[in-house]
Amino acid sequence: MENIYKNLDLNKSSSKKLDWLLIQHEMKKKLGSEVYESWLKKIDFIDEFNNYILISVPTRFIRDWITSRYLDQILQIVKIFKKDLIRIEFKIVENNINLDNQNNIDIPSKKNENVSFLKDSFLQYNRVDHNKRFENFVTGNSNKLAYEASLKVTENLSHYNPLYIYGGVGMGKTHLLNSIGFELKKRKKVMFVPAERFMYQFIKSIKANDMVRFKEYFRNTDILLIDDIQFMNGKEAMQEEFFHTFNALLDKGSQIIVSADRSPNKLSRIQERIKSRFSGGLVVDIQKPDLELRRNIIENKINELNKLYADKIEISKEIKDFISLEISSSIRELVGAINRLISFSRIYNKLPNLAETKIVLKDLLNINENKVTIDLIQTLVCKFFKISKNEMLSSRRSRYLVRPRQTAIYLTKILTSKSLPEIGREFSNRDHTTIIHSVKTIERLKENDKDMAENINNLKNQILYNTKENEV
Ligand code: ADP
Ligand code: MG
Repeated sequence: MENIYKNLDLNKSSSKKLDWLLIQHEMKKKLGSEVYESWLKKIDFIDEFNNYILISVPTRFIRDWITSRYLDQILQIVKIFKKDLIRIEFKIVENNINLDNQNNIDIPSKKNENVSFLKDSFLQYNRVDHNKRFENFVTGNSNKLAYEASLKVTENLSHYNPLYIYGGVGMGKTHLLNSIGFELKKRKKVMFVPAERFMYQFIKSIKANDMVRFKEYFRNTDILLIDDIQFMNGKEAMQEEFFHTFNALLDKGSQIIVSADRSPNKLSRIQERIKSRFSGGLVVDIQKPDLELRRNIIENKINELNKLYADKIEISKEIKDFISLEISSSIRELVGAINRLISFSRIYNKLPNLAETKIVLKDLLNINENKVTIDLIQTLVCKFFKISKNEMLSSRRSRYLVRPRQTAIYLTKILTSKSLPEIGREFSNRDHTTIIHSVKTIERLKENDKDMAENINNLKNQILYNTKENEV
């Protein structure tokens, strides 16, 4: 709460600072939501300097991808807001990649999210995302109950009131709330509010001496959907107001639907009596998706994306199996992975193979780049070609040593962030021109020699993926 107050002041005193949320909005509009969801959403704004901005992404692959395809357009967008900015610099920040944005609310770099709410008017609260409907919500053991309860609410108002849906990050809670909103909007007055916004609007209304309008507005709806109630951690006065709004709505027969990341009794910082009203309705949870559900979601998402284009993209069974096994804890990440693979296929006009899939999805998989050391690469390549490390690092030029050596050099180049001279040093002080020559040779061989390409892929997989088992 204090944080939000702080941000309010911050907004006044430095109103000229770049608002990343606006940039994101613009990127989504100009570059399309598929590209945005797959790549650009990953960008975090770090800071703004005299004539450039510093942003971060979780992997080098994403940085390179964004740089080669979208950087010009991003810069153009940035320049709309501030024409002095002429450069964008990247930083790779790996550690927060598996966190959901919503958990980072107190982290300074996310400040802008709060600040931007200032610009929102009351009217924007009815925004329901039309892409999230019951028809494209795939059900399985873990979410069936929540789905059915949500559907019931749209058929038989006030039967389950309030309806409280809880579950971890990326499990489909917001999707279900949207589906309910979308359905009921056809005949009822619907209000969809992230809890943070409710809070924010509350503070803003107090400051503007506008509480009457606030009350009227929120008490005048047939359906109130509040997303992520765990963020409603406001001061006493606000909880009081929420409680009264809540009761007033229930009294007049309005339907309330609430989502949260935990069960009502585990909500901290929320009044007991509010929690007990939540518990008094229907409480349903969404569990982690099982394999079958994950597979169905993958199929569904591919079909959905394919409908947007004339030509269809078929992802191989091997890759679908891989994704459904490896990305198991969040449906959001699963959907993100499919988005990315489809983007990749459309741009390269080819399907990624397994090794490429792993690189493209690296930040979503449990692959830790720091584990990919030159030592590991040399060890695995030696093992693969059945030579010793001494032989690899020697200056001997027998053919049976040269290829493995070049392979190891090539893999070091593409899988680590080491510079050419650094790689040279690790390979018995070879000159950087030797390193370039090795990389080019392997690239050429890969193009013309199927076996070679396959060997490299296998090795790449082993290095990237089995790093734990092969730890040296
Ligand atoms: P939460 O609010 O629980 O964090 P979301 O509702 O935002 O999660 O879901 C994350 C992403 O996964 C969204 O793109 C959503 O459409 C998708 N998704 C979640 N569950 C399902 C499902 N059962 N079927 C299809 N898509 C789903
Ligand atoms: Mg959500």
